[in-house]
Amino acid sequence: MKSVGLIGWRGMVGSVLLKRMEEENDFLKIHPIFFSTSQCGQNTPRIKHVLPNTLQDAYNIDLLKEMDIIITCQGSLYTKSIYPILRKCGWKGYWIDAASLLRMENDSIIILDPVNYNFIQDSISRGIKTFVGGNCTVSLMLMSLGGLFEKELIEWISVSTYQAASGAGSRHVIELLQQMGTLYNIVAQDLLNPSLSVLDVEHKVTQISRRSDFPVKNFTIPLAGSLIPWIDVKMDNGQSREEWKGQFETNKILGFKNKVLIDGICVRISSLRCHSQSFVIKLTKNISLENIKEIIENHNDWVNIVPNNVEDTLLKLTPSAVTGSLDIPIGRLRKLNMGEKYLSAFTVGDQLLWGAAEPLRRMLNLLINL
Ligand code: NAP
Repeated sequence: MKSVGLIGWRGMVGSVLLKRMEEENDFLKIHPIFFSTSQCGQNTPRIKHVLPNTLQDAYNIDLLKEMDIIITCQGSLYTKSIYPILRKCGWKGYWIDAASLLRMENDSIIILDPVNYNFIQDSISRGIKTFVGGNCTVSLMLMSLGGLFEKELIEWISVSTYQAASGAGSRHVIELLQQMGTLYNIVAQDLLNPSLSVLDVEHKVTQISRRSDFPVKNFTIPLAGSLIPWIDVKMDNGQSREEWKGQFETNKILGFKNKVLIDGICVRISSLRCHSQSFVIKLTKNISLENIKEIIENHNDWVNIVPNNVEDTLLKLTPSAVTGSLDIPIGRLRKLNMGEKYLSAFTVGDQLLWGAAEPLRRMLNLLINL
């Protein structure tokens, strides 16, 4: 049985990973060793089929070197401080990582096996040892539009994202809920008064969100009742880094030599853990909507078409409907006024599942079955 070091299991991605591994009985197939950057010596998490033990030091290189596989959801800072040392001292194990740091390295593969299974298998045969989960919006886009990419039917995509707070980490989710609570508390009594003007309530809420004691330490500005049209740092060309990842990661995952062009605006909104995306797609050729739906739906087991009507859209194509599920609904599919080669689509996906933890878990399974 392979020794698998788990790091970053306490964070959001890590917790979802453990839950999925437990659900799928993955712990029966490995010898797990739990590490921590901050709680070394404390108890390991309680997990079915795993004997309780103590947490190991995530900076203990000698112990890490003994692992056949390391799976980390700790973040780029940790990867930066440990990965080069491990490789330098000759560690030949497999490194599976949720953080973005190693994604664009030549000797790493971005993993999303329903989309690039053959590429992953080929890389394993070629001796690649570093496998990195993709950016959450990119992975969710590929899970929804995978069929059209596979058949090379996409010339370009213009995308607008509606990204959940969880994409920024656990502290951000907590802060968003604190912001929501603060706004509610200030008008809780007013909401019971039927004669009060809604504009007076709105004014009170807006004023409190602009006060210096409003909780904005992590987001830096209010998100509750608002949105943030910038995610990650600025690139030289004026894109945000999140927007830059769309085209670059997609083409790397697909191993495309002829680039598919992807660009747009990434926006943080106040949903908790589902990312949504609106696409305008230029097709490489004119094919019927029925054909498009068939190609999309046949690509993988999780994508499903939501009929383009009010009832199904409201019932199935929202973050509140999709949260906690591996389903990838895609709807609002129609040809646009611009012409027969222009398609609209809207998709929603749980960014902690297919957007983060699930590709890592499935990669682990590919490796433990070698
Ligand atoms: P996170 O929730 O902030 O957790 C990261 C680490 O922070 C934990 O492992 C834990 O380490 C520590 N931590 C400190 N306070 C904590 C608290 N209150 N609750 C839980 N953990 C706490 O980060 P994440 O969102 O899981 O992201 C981890 C990595 O995955 C990042 O590189 C991120 O970019 C990447 N990623 C994230 C997403 C996403 O959807 N969030 C998607 C794709 C990739 P110790 O136990 O060692 O203290």
